Amino acid sequence: MVLAKIEVAKDTYLVGIGVSPGISIGEISLINRRATAEECSIDSVEVESEVARFHWAVEQARIQLREVKDSVSSQQHLREHLYILDTHILILDDAMLVQGTETAIREQLNAEGALKRVLSQLRKLFDNIEDEYLRERRSDVDAVGERLMRILTGEHERTLSEIGHKSLIVTHDLSPADTMQMDREKILGFITDRGGRTSHTAILARSLEIPAVVGLETITSLVYDQLPAIIDGTTGVVILNPSEETFKEYLQRKQSFEYLEKELICYRDLPAVTKDQERIALRGNLELASEFPLAKKHGTEGVGLYRTEFLYLGRSEPPDEEEQLSAYRQILEEMRPHPVTIRTLDIGGDKFVPDLNLSDEANPALGLRAIRFSLREVTLFKLQLRAILRASAFGKVRIMFPMISGVAEIRTCKRILRDVQQQLIDEAVPFDSEVEIGIMVETPSAVFVAPFLAEEVDFFSIGTNDLIQYCLAVDRGNEHIAYLYDPLHPAILRAIKAVCDAGKKAGIGVGMCGEMAGEPLYALVLLGLGLTELSMNPACVPRVKRVLRQLSRRDGEKLVEKLFTLPTGKEVALCLDKEMRGRLPDIFGDALI
Ligand code: PEP
Ligand code: MG
Repeated sequence: MVLAKIEVAKDTYLVGIGVSPGISIGEISLINRRATAEECSIDSVEVESEVARFHWAVEQARIQLREVKDSVSSQQHLREHLYILDTHILILDDAMLVQGTETAIREQLNAEGALKRVLSQLRKLFDNIEDEYLRERRSDVDAVGERLMRILTGEHERTLSEIGHKSLIVTHDLSPADTMQMDREKILGFITDRGGRTSHTAILARSLEIPAVVGLETITSLVYDQLPAIIDGTTGVVILNPSEETFKEYLQRKQSFEYLEKELICYRDLPAVTKDQERIALRGNLELASEFPLAKKHGTEGVGLYRTEFLYLGRSEPPDEEEQLSAYRQILEEMRPHPVTIRTLDIGGDKFVPDLNLSDEANPALGLRAIRFSLREVTLFKLQLRAILRASAFGKVRIMFPMISGVAEIRTCKRILRDVQQQLIDEAVPFDSEVEIGIMVETPSAVFVAPFLAEEVDFFSIGTNDLIQYCLAVDRGNEHIAYLYDPLHPAILRAIKAVCDAGKKAGIGVGMCGEMAGEPLYALVLLGLGLTELSMNPACVPRVKRVLRQLSRRDGEKLVEKLFTLPTGKEVALCLDKEMRGRLPDIFGDALI
């Protein structure tokens, strides 16, 4: 749909969430998939034909999705994402959507109006989900809703396959079906209204290495086709209608970024060793098999966080033991000889594991999530542990439990793990009996009792994404209080230090796998705090390695002493910035790191 041309001032700066690094300059192609629905009441005699029209639309949607699925299933690089289309086909059977709309039509609303009402109810339900990943699955329901609406209104959908020339794609939220039909060569970047770091767009853009900025809220209503624009997927900046001067500046930044990218690849095979000969393991955080090539390309030393929940999401049944075994085995074989840290299910609520009937919670972030869910659903937990242990026969596995809040919890996990190990021994099924056990430190209570926890496990991994949320009482997904979400807050630095000290005293490794680990600017602080392993988005590994090789633990410790005298995160940030610019002006002198 082409919108009326809006006046866009020169150098209109917008800031969203940069989810896939890199700079692209080009013209916009607007894919506005939002159908304009006429909402009206109908006569009682029209109800049955309106219900029939809605069911016809559902069938048409099913046919369309199957066609997309057939057309892409032959493309190797997209196979991994086919499950998204299956999810959409499943949503077409969802009772809340289909029966809900039918009920609303019977209340004498036309099909479009009824569907609109039900979609808005579903959106509210999703918005109340605490878990960022699950909340973003709202986009699947939105995509199906929009497809149905377009069929009902007869509006034509412009797809990515219709893009005639290389352009920056602007859309409300990228439909997985769109991304699967697209021609990679024609896409310079993605810019969307919706989304966060774990939305489909973000994951896909990262694995295809296409710059992307998401979460701009209203970008689709601000732009038109062929409007010149610049996108910086590292900083999240989008510039509409750039001036000659801005254009030149970003062209230069783009060239420097690409030059740096090429140069950084040289670091792939170099060890991450500091100037004082400290070896820091730099590992990757992975969710999908499609990310393996990226991890290898950037030289990650194995996986520091494998988020297994991605195997469970967007489907009606949890994966069985064999399916999990095959997924874990694949990643272990890909990463050999390096270790793979498999985190057990970090999920909350029953939305995506339908056979388990869990009630809604008033406070999901503080509720039945992560290890608490697994300890309640012990059968499911044991099944996952069996699959992980069986996979350990094919490579070096480390098992990590999420959101541990105290010693009793980890002891229960270990007892269950021992039961599963005994079962496998009884069945003569091979596994690695030396498999290392660790926990994510992401609750304040775990920080306080870290010395006790350290006696129970082989390693700690600090999950700063949640640790910051729980320590500072700041919802990690709430844009209204995002200004309070501060990794350099003095309380956070002290929490990290306490965990590192406890780990060191007990002689166990302490890593970090939250987003903070992948920020090169923090490398010296993290060294000084005492971390021995950093796990991050694979694309960050060469950048962090380049910085680490020019720093020393001793200098980090001195810096931490200085930072610990400062009372606010802002002062810490300023001091750190000055220190890093002074030490590595070629890297931190500009914003291209
Ligand atoms: C974290 O909390 O820092 C973490 C790495 O886990 P997730 O982002 O999956 O909650
Ligand atoms: Mg977490």
